[in-house]
Amino acid sequence: MRKQFAVIGLGRFGSSICKELYHMGHEVFAIDTDETKITAVKDFSTYTFVGNGTDEALLEKVGIRNFNYVIVAIGDDIQASILTTLHVKDHNVPNVWVKAQNNYHHKVLEKIGADRVFHPEKEMGSRIAAYLTSDTVLDYIDLSADYSIIEMLATKKISGKTLIELDPRKNYGCTIIAIKQLDKVDVTPDPAAPIQKGDILIMIGDKRDLRRFREGEL
Ligand code: ATP
Repeated sequence: MRKQFAVIGLGRFGSSICKELYHMGHEVFAIDTDETKITAVKDFSTYTFVGNGTDEALLEKVGIRNFNYVIVAIGDDIQASILTTLHVKDHNVPNVWVKAQNNYHHKVLEKIGADRVFHPEKEMGSRIAAYLTSDTVLDYIDLSADYSIIEMLATKKISGKTLIELDPRKNYGCTIIAIKQLDKVDVTPDPAAPIQKGDILIMIGDKRDLRRFREGEL
């Protein structure tokens, strides 16, 4: 399902999240005080706006309450990050994810209701985007802006089905290149063998096709 994200603050982290989500087929609204940052993400966002996240009138004007997800990726200005988070939470946005600069910042963000707090220095932006949008994606490698390899957990819904039945290539345009069971990696999986719950499917494809497969089959 296509989701609506607003990303406030387009430094390295914010713009990377913006691009990832956009390539995954989501609607992305990018906001930054700096016009050059906005220009840099123009091709990777659905809408853009030059403005300040701490400005309540602006948040009202852009209809921030209508977004499912808001990512606050304001960096050095901790005060602006906290104030923006507060305003966004006041608008009852259900998922507010915020980049923290340090542990004190992290604690304050949790107290004021941030739903997830990140330290991107420890985690890559693209990995976070993949992980956040799915409970079943375990790992993720970017091949290009559009293509990736993912490790995906086979859930109850998929277990018992064979590769022949699923036919991800025909139905979704993506390919299962290997199946992992415990420490064993099978690079020539038997197409007639049923997939077990807990198997890890290693898949390659266009990010949108991979997402369609995950949402369709799992
Ligand atoms: P990164 O590590 O992700 O590159 P950083 O920690 O260096 O980021 P900054 O560059 O300080 O963080 O901020 C990230 C972005 O947030 C910048 O593009 C900046 O213009 C923007 N920004 C800062 N304050 C605000 C604000 N109040 N409203 C909207 N955007 C803001």
